[in-house]
Amino acid sequence: MYDYLIIGAGFAGSVMAERFASQFNKKVLIVEKRNHIAGNAYDEYDEHGILVHKYGPHIFHTNSKQVFDYLSLFTEWRFYEHKVLANYRGELFPIPINRITINKFFGLSLTAEEEIKNFLLSKAEKRYPIMNSEDIIVNQVGRELFEAFFKNYTKKQWNLEPNELAPTVCGRIPVRFNDDCRYFTDKYQFMPKDGYTKMFERMLNHKNIEIVLNTDFKKIINDVKFEKMIYTGPIDYYFDYLHGKLPYRSIRFEWENIEEANYQSTAQVNFVDSSIDYTRVVEHKYLSGEISKTTTISREYPHNNGEPFYPIPSEMNRKLYSKYKEEQVKEKNTIFCGRLAEYQYYNMDQVVGNVLSILSKL
Ligand code: FAD
Ligand code: UDP
Repeated sequence: MYDYLIIGAGFAGSVMAERFASQFNKKVLIVEKRNHIAGNAYDEYDEHGILVHKYGPHIFHTNSKQVFDYLSLFTEWRFYEHKVLANYRGELFPIPINRITINKFFGLSLTAEEEIKNFLLSKAEKRYPIMNSEDIIVNQVGRELFEAFFKNYTKKQWNLEPNELAPTVCGRIPVRFNDDCRYFTDKYQFMPKDGYTKMFERMLNHKNIEIVLNTDFKKIINDVKFEKMIYTGPIDYYFDYLHGKLPYRSIRFEWENIEEANYQSTAQVNFVDSSIDYTRVVEHKYLSGEISKTTTISREYPHNNGEPFYPIPSEMNRKLYSKYKEEQVKEKNTIFCGRLAEYQYYNMDQVVGNVLSILSKL
C-alpha cells in the first residue's frame, strides 16, 4: 500500500516524490516507462566518455531563488552561460538577435544602443494586437530578420508557420540592442556539476521511494494499492484519447563522434535555412566543460511521431487541451502536473517551481 503512486520520473514526478518522502514521510511508488530516471533531462556518458544529453541540450536557468536553493540540496553547480550562433547561408550570427547580428546582417557599424533601437524601429512592422509568433518578431525587428532567423527554423521545428503558433513560442527569444551574446539573462545559470542524472539519483535515494522502470502505468494500475496518484505523462493518453489525440512534437537525434578536440565554436548552432533538414547541432562537451581528445555532437530532426517532447502551442490545441482539463477536474484522486500532463511549454525551473507551489498548498 502506497500513499502516492507517481507516474513519470522526470522533474515533475521526481520533485513530488522527493518532497512527499522526505517532508511528509509518505510512501511513494514511481512508475516510469523508460529504462531510466530524469525524464527528458537524462544525461549519460557515451562510449567515448563524453557526457551527452540524450534528449537534447538542457540548460538550467532561473530567476527563482527558491528553485535554485531546492535543487542545490542535490547537486553542486558549474557556472555555465549558454551561447548560440545561427548559421544563415553559411555565415554565423549571434542569437538572440543583438547589435553584432544586426551590424553583420545589414553591413552596418552602428555603435550606440539608441542607434540600434532607431534602426529596428525603421524596420519593424507594427502589429497590433500581437496574435502569433510572426507578429511578435516582425513587430520588433521587421520582415528581413524574421525571414532569415525565425521563419524557416520555426517551420522545421514545429511543422507550422510562425503565424500558426502562439506568440509565446518565438517570444521566448528576446531582441537586444547591445553585444550580449548569452542565450539567457537569468540570475542563476548553472549546470549540475555531475550531470542531471546524478542529481536525480540523489533526489530519489530515499527509503520511502520505490522506483519501477520499463513500465507503462496502465499495465500496473489495477495491481497497485495507493491513496493518491500524481500523473506527469501525456494528458490525452491518460484519458485514452477520449477527445482525440493532442499533437506533441518529437525529435530524432543523429549522433556523431568526431576525432577532434572541438567541432564548432559554441555549444549550439541553429541552422535557420530551409535547405538544411535539421534544426540545430549541439556539441555536448561545452555543456559539461569536459576536456577530451574527441567530441560528440547531435543533430536534431524534428518530427511528429516518437517520444512526446514538446506540446504545440496553437489555438486549436489549446481548445482541445481545455476539453481534457475539464476531464481532469472530475479525477479527484489525481494531481496532473508537468509539461506533458499540463500541455504547457515549460522549462525545467517552471516545472520545479510549480511542484513546490502545489506542495506548499497541501
Ligand atoms: P518529462 O521530463 O517528459 O517527464 C515525464 C516522464 O513521464 C518521462 O520520463 C516519461 O517517460 C514518463 N511517462 C510518460 N508516459 C508514461 C506512462 N504511460 N507510464 C509511465 N511513465 C510515463 N528546459 C530548460 O529549462 N532548459 C533547457 O535548455 C531545455 N531544453 C530542452 C530541450 C529539449 C529537446 C526538450 C524536449 C525539452 C527541453 N527543456 C528544457 C524542457 C524540459 O525537458 C522540461 O521542462 C522538463 O523535463 C519537464 O519535466 P516533466 O517531468 O514535466 O516531463
Ligand atoms: N527560434 C527560431 N530561430 C532560432 C531560435 C529559436 O526561429 O534561431 C524559434 C523557434 O520557433 C523555437 C522557438 O523560437 O522553437 C523557441 O526557441 P528555444 O531555443 O527556446 O527552443 P527550445 O530550446 O525549447 O527548443
